[in-house]
Amino acid sequence: MILACLGILAAACAPAAGYGRRPAPNGPALRDIVFPVGVEVSFSDTFGAPRGGGTRSHEGQDLMAPKMTPLVATTDGVVSWLRWSNAGNAGNMLVLRDSAGWEYWYIHMNNDTPGTDDAKNRYDKAFADGIRDGQRVKAGEVIGYVGDSGNAENTGSHVHFEMHDPDGNPVNSFNTLAHAELRVRTAAQIAADRPSGNLETVTRSGSSVTLGGWGLDAHSNSSIDVTALVNGNPVKTTTANIDRPDVEAANPGRGSRHGFSLGTVTAPSGAEVCVVLHSVGGGGNTRLPCRTV
Ligand SMILES: [Zn+2]
Repeated sequence: MILACLGILAAACAPAAGYGRRPAPNGPALRDIVFPVGVEVSFSDTFGAPRGGGTRSHEGQDLMAPKMTPLVATTDGVVSWLRWSNAGNAGNMLVLRDSAGWEYWYIHMNNDTPGTDDAKNRYDKAFADGIRDGQRVKAGEVIGYVGDSGNAENTGSHVHFEMHDPDGNPVNSFNTLAHAELRVRTAAQIAADRPSGNLETVTRSGSSVTLGGWGLDAHSNSSIDVTALVNGNPVKTTTANIDRPDVEAANPGRGSRHGFSLGTVTAPSGAEVCVVLHSVGGGGNTRLPCRTV
C-alpha cells in the first residue's frame, strides 16, 4: 500500500470505499490482523454490553454492513468450525484459527437470496467458494458474506466478530479491529494460488448425475478435494486421486493422481450443478464452469 501511494495514481492512496470511518484505538492491538470486513465500517466498543435482557453479555463487536459485503480472513489459518444453519442466536457462522491457537469468530453470515430477506440459506451466498470446515485460508481471502442470520434477522445485517485467546476465553477485539489492516487479496494473488482443472463430463441418469474431471493444486502435488454443489449447496466431496497420465503429461513433474469422479449426486431436473476445487494451502479456490442439467 505504501508503494502504491508513492505511484502516480493518487487515487490508490484514498481509503477504500466503505460504510463510515473506524474509531481510533484507545490501546494496543492484541493481535496483528486483517480487518474482517472487506471495506471500512464504523463501529463502537460494545464488548461486555448487556444482551438478552441482561441474561448474557456481548462477547464481540458488531460491524454493520449491507448483506453480501465480503468477509475476509483476518489471518493465515484454518477454518476450525463452520455452521450452516439459520437456527439459534448465531445462525451461519465460521471460526478461523491461527497457528498460535487464537480464534476469530464470524457470526450472522448471510442467509438470504441477494436483494431479499427470504432466509433460503443457499450455502454459496453465506460462504465463499471452497470454504468448509478444515479449509486452509490466507489473510485477506474472502471467506463469506455479511448477513442477518440467527437472531440478527430483525436487527440489520452485520457480522458479530469475536476473538478468543488460545485458552478459549473471549477477549475484547476493539483495539485489534481499530488497528487492523484493511486488505482483500487481489485477483492476481488469487489466480496465483487457486487450483486449475476441468469439469469434463456431466452425465444424468434418472434423478442423479455423475461428474468427472480433474483438478490440480497451484503449489502442491498432493491430490486435492473437490465438492459438488447443486443449486449452490454442497452435496458431496471427494478426493481427486484417480490416475490421469494425460494431466501429468500436460503438467510435467506434478504427478498423475488428479482425476475425480463424483457419482450419484442427486440433482432435480434443471438443477445448476457446479464443482469447486479446494486449494491445499489456501489463498483461493476454484469454481469450474457450472452446468444446468
Ligand atoms: Zn453482536
